[in-house]
Amino acid sequence: MHLSEAIWKGSKLRPQGFGKYYTAAGGSCAWGAAFEGAHCGILVPHLSHQRWPVVGITSQCPLCKESNTVANLIVHLNDDHLWPREAIALWVGRMEESEDRSLPASLPASTKLDSHVGA
Ligand SMILES: [Zn+2]
Repeated sequence: MHLSEAIWKGSKLRPQGFGKYYTAAGGSCAWGAAFEGAHCGILVPHLSHQRWPVVGITSQCPLCKESNTVANLIVHLNDDHLWPREAIALWVGRMEESEDRSLPASLPASTKLDSHVGA
């Protein structure tokens, strides 16, 4: 599941919260929504990065142009700009599209592993 999809799905489960993955009032921030939407539990940053490599891309905040990783910009958009999680999901989706385009189409990521099956 793409990160954008996980945020989107998780945003339907609780109201939005700020400053924490899950707030005492029962809300979730964009990252909390992602973890819940993906049913993966809270992931430490390096595991989030393994699962969703897009979070390691350096990008710019669409509002204030701050340069940071997608991982940190998700927090920034949620907590500093109070962006709805659905909007954050759409923004992350655009990052994922540009990431997909940067991969060579003729070499899917699974090819290497497939060739090892039965070797
Ligand atoms: Zn900003």
